[in-house]
Amino acid sequence: MKIDFSKDKDGLVPAIIQDAQTKNVLMLGYMNEEALEKTKESGKVTFFSRSKQRLWTKGEESGNFLRLVDIKVDCDNDTLLVSVHPQGPTCHKGTDTCWGEKNTSEMTFLDTLEEVISDRRSNPANDKSYVASLFRSGINKIAQKVGEEAVEVVIEAKDDNDDLFLNESADLLFHYLILLQAKGYKLNDVIEVLKSRHSK
Ligand code: AMP
Ligand code: ZN
Ligand code: ZN
Ligand code: ZN
Repeated sequence: MKIDFSKDKDGLVPAIIQDAQTKNVLMLGYMNEEALEKTKESGKVTFFSRSKQRLWTKGEESGNFLRLVDIKVDCDNDTLLVSVHPQGPTCHKGTDTCWGEKNTSEMTFLDTLEEVISDRRSNPANDKSYVASLFRSGINKIAQKVGEEAVEVVIEAKDDNDDLFLNESADLLFHYLILLQAKGYKLNDVIEVLKSRHSK
């Protein structure tokens, strides 16, 4: 990896820290050659702190280390993209990212939704829950519901109303997640099938 440390008078290059899983940007720091070496050697992201004027391993006091996954250098060799698994919140103010965001991805939200569905499935007697009532009415009814929502998506696809199309798409995905669980599966099982086809 060829990195140009000469553009900055202190020999620093910016290092964008990205979560390997969610792909969110967690923070930005600076590395000199020594910080980069220490990062690779220890597997914990280490910067050169401009305020402390010394090497700074993120997490050295808080324990919230950034575990190194991969380092890439940009097109003109002067900026690093460091992918990590964060241990705990990255920002010293307590948030997941230094911009006050939560470190979640769209896929993680589907996981959350699947957990709710799974909870309703194990408590089908909950009479305030629509999802529980679907589980009570059985797999044929759920499958039929998926079919209806699919038809509604088809109808709205022919129309110009994007709002309706998106809402019917959400209905379809939601009921499909329920059908998968009624059959004893989760979205990941389908993703595994897609992945196995992809590698062929
Ligand atoms: P830590 O490296 O997490 O043990 O934090 C040690 C000190 O480094 C904190 O008290 C802050 O001054 C600073 N610090 C920690 N995390 C960040 C961050 N994400 N951005 C800027 N400064 C930080
Ligand atoms: Zn560049
Ligand atoms: Zn911060
Ligand atoms: Zn619908």
